Amino acid sequence: MFLITVSQTIYMSFDSLGLSAPLLKAVSKQGYTTPSPIQQKCIPVVLQGKDVLASAQTGTGKTAGFTLPLLQILSENQDTHNRKIKALILTPTRELAAQIQENVKQYSAFLDIRSTVIFGGVNQNPQVKTLRNGIDVLIATPGRLLDLEDQGYVDLSNVKILVLDEADRMLDMGFARDIKKVMSLLPKKRQNLLFSATFSKEIKQLASGFLHNPVMVEATPENSTAEKVKQKIYHVDKVKKRHIIIKLIKDGDWQQVLVFTRTKHGANNLCKKMLLADISAAAIHGNKTQNARTKALAGFKDGSIRVLVATDIAARGLDIPLLPHVVNFELPNIPEDYVHRIGRTGRAGANGEAISLVSHDEADYLRDIEKLLKQKLPTGVIEGYEQGPEPPAEEKKPQNHSPRKPRNNNGGGSWGKNKKPNNRNNNNGNRRTTNK
Ligand code: AMP
Repeated sequence: MFLITVSQTIYMSFDSLGLSAPLLKAVSKQGYTTPSPIQQKCIPVVLQGKDVLASAQTGTGKTAGFTLPLLQILSENQDTHNRKIKALILTPTRELAAQIQENVKQYSAFLDIRSTVIFGGVNQNPQVKTLRNGIDVLIATPGRLLDLEDQGYVDLSNVKILVLDEADRMLDMGFARDIKKVMSLLPKKRQNLLFSATFSKEIKQLASGFLHNPVMVEATPENSTAEKVKQKIYHVDKVKKRHIIIKLIKDGDWQQVLVFTRTKHGANNLCKKMLLADISAAAIHGNKTQNARTKALAGFKDGSIRVLVATDIAARGLDIPLLPHVVNFELPNIPEDYVHRIGRTGRAGANGEAISLVSHDEADYLRDIEKLLKQKLPTGVIEGYEQGPEPPAEEKKPQNHSPRKPRNNNGGGSWGKNKKPNNRNNNNGNRRTTNK
């Protein structure tokens, strides 16, 4: 296996990557000037027809990293009279699927390529209708894909390129069997691209089962996101957290705040408290319907909703430009999720502030986060809400339902500074849900 590690943006233009004129035009229309590190490494390798095992997460530009060369390969071998699904992009969540579809549409604006997206939780009829018209690129979540395949609406026997995006999330969400089933429906001879933020034993197993001599591409951050964001820890009492967050929002007159809780239940409860305090708020998590999530996110972006309360999975991929405030109402039990969370602020070179309310029972989580970041996080005091003594031992452990899992700490690089911000929401939403 070849290993290409990219941690720095070397100045390079899109023209030098071997992309065709229609793709370069589309990229320029998006306002991209410099390919991101993952794009610099991925695009030429995919164009050569090689399998790729890429370590990259949302925010690195990975979508264009696989979509641009994929579109080029398809357009070079295009038969517009006989449209069959030639590229399949599997993703864990509806929102990520929808976002990828949006990107595919943007990047194929000057090509005769048809793409569509299918995911669960919505009526299948419009999806079936689009599929019937002939599609070149299909973006899908595993559950709905298998449903429609089962009903005879999807033919995967002509797929030339398979992309597994956020493969680690798909495994986390219990899609391992579905992925295997999908693979059994594809032709044996094809190009495979696997993108994952982490490389657990399970991912390695999955990869070794279907990738052929893959080139390994790794995007490591230039600086960890954490360094770019103003962070503050407030040691507080658990029972006072709700008062404190409301006080911070009101006193600071914060107009757009993303708040993280560990559980869906916690997100709902906090949301109710906000509403009672006359702060417009909405919760976004895996139990919410697609409509509710879309509405919540739209309201948050247009300013009609001041506070969006989210769980980690729900917020994955959320790309809101110039988000000024992120609050960790509860610390994540997976330290890498802290980096993901605070990466939602200070985007596109803007200043952001990430505040964490840490109660006694979260001391271990804080220690793990500081260990990961290799720094002690600055602390502050909110007058009148100083932390009291530690409660008795039986009340110490936080409510936590998910196991600790290591995640990589990959973020974007300076390539993104001039980028056009785009709004992204990636939520947990398929037939399977996790506790987050
Ligand atoms: P991704 O990691 O694919 O989720 O992309 C993260 C964000 O970066 C998206 O909003 C893309 O539109 C944007 N983006 C992708 N490639 C570039 C680039 N070369 N320059 C600037 N922005 C980009």
